[in-house]
Amino acid sequence: MGLPIARGASNPLRSGNQTRRKAPPILVTDSVPQADATPPKETVRKPVQLFPTGAQSRAFYRRFYPGTGPAEWNDWRWQMRTRIRTLDDLGRVFRLSADEHAAVSNHQGSLPVGITPYYASLMGLKDAAEPLRRTHIMVGGEYLRGPGEEDDPLGEDHDTAVPGLVHRYPDRVLFLVTGTCSTYCRYCTRSRMVGNPGGEYGFSTRQWEQALAYLEAHTEVRDVLLSGGDPLTLGDDKLDWLLGRLRQIKHIEFLRIGTKMPVVLPQRITKSLTRLLRKHHPLWMSLHFTHPVELTPEVAESCARLADAGIPLGSQTVLLKGVNDDAGVMTQLMHGLLKNRVKPYYLYQCDPIRGSAHFRTPVEKGLEIIRALRGHTTGYATPIFCIDAPGGGGKIQLAPDPVAGRDGDFLLLRNFEGKVYRYPDPDGALGR
Ligand code: SF4
Repeated sequence: MGLPIARGASNPLRSGNQTRRKAPPILVTDSVPQADATPPKETVRKPVQLFPTGAQSRAFYRRFYPGTGPAEWNDWRWQMRTRIRTLDDLGRVFRLSADEHAAVSNHQGSLPVGITPYYASLMGLKDAAEPLRRTHIMVGGEYLRGPGEEDDPLGEDHDTAVPGLVHRYPDRVLFLVTGTCSTYCRYCTRSRMVGNPGGEYGFSTRQWEQALAYLEAHTEVRDVLLSGGDPLTLGDDKLDWLLGRLRQIKHIEFLRIGTKMPVVLPQRITKSLTRLLRKHHPLWMSLHFTHPVELTPEVAESCARLADAGIPLGSQTVLLKGVNDDAGVMTQLMHGLLKNRVKPYYLYQCDPIRGSAHFRTPVEKGLEIIRALRGHTTGYATPIFCIDAPGGGGKIQLAPDPVAGRDGDFLLLRNFEGKVYRYPDPDGALGR
């Protein structure tokens, strides 16, 4: 079925990459009442920053982007334009190790270096082992192919119904709407396709049309997850148009957006974006978090804006060796998420993409972390630990097994402290 974008010259999808707009204002006028009863003739102009800037970020941009004011720093388009993309950009900010230097120099193709200045401000500038930095600056290990590693470990290409639309589960689809992210994670499941304009996965409005036509025809689809790339890198007009088109398909009951932008570029969550998003409810979001260092005042603001717009927020976190594979770190992250009104949802075992061995932990590490959380803290803070099965098997949940055995009519269950309790279960076979 043809779409309006094929005909309407004024359609936002025709307008190139992103609509150029002025930077959003960051100063507003606060009216301060006069102390006496005389009617105020003037108002006192008091600068109020619409987006908070943490002390670390402020010190960072004054040092590395002198002349940059808060208006630019808090403008998400400035952050996108000013991303750290090259060896020179990296060298200006980070003291690169020999390994990092060589790996960046040798890189070709998809999954380039990409770090927003905001996210770089949270990273260790001198220490190559600092967790966030490890997730975004490549090292030589990325070029080694370990056993079982694949370019497309989840077999998404195999389950692609039309370009950009993965239809694996009966009632839901994964709609890859862009190949662009604001930052590129070195462990990305879609490393084969992201950040590679003009590559074989070339995302386009024509592709969207095909996907929408497929969805209109497939009445069994009730849930669409928009991902990519990061859907929030799209300009407001395009995003509004796409969500509106999906909303018009009656059998689609709800939409989800998978995004890292509220974490790595929280300034993207503008008031106009939240106004736009709330038009398309029921809309849910999965936010990609990695480490408690990410829980800044900026991220508190982006999450609050989304939650206040009525968007249920869940998190997804990839378990990464030397980054967050520690029960204390993970507990801190999960607690911080709850404080920011984000429900810890998924903890993923790292997918075996090519060159990921230096990121992957043994599977029991994830179980150890779940064991440290479950029962020891609120149940809301415990995510589901799962492996996305290689070859397209879908998500498989793993959890510590609480069944300790059976004693006649009693099932023996182990609690979070390792103590065994008896539950009357005369008709059961579990634990035999
Ligand atoms: S933001 Fe998501 S899609 Fe983009 S590189 Fe990171 S994991 Fe991949």
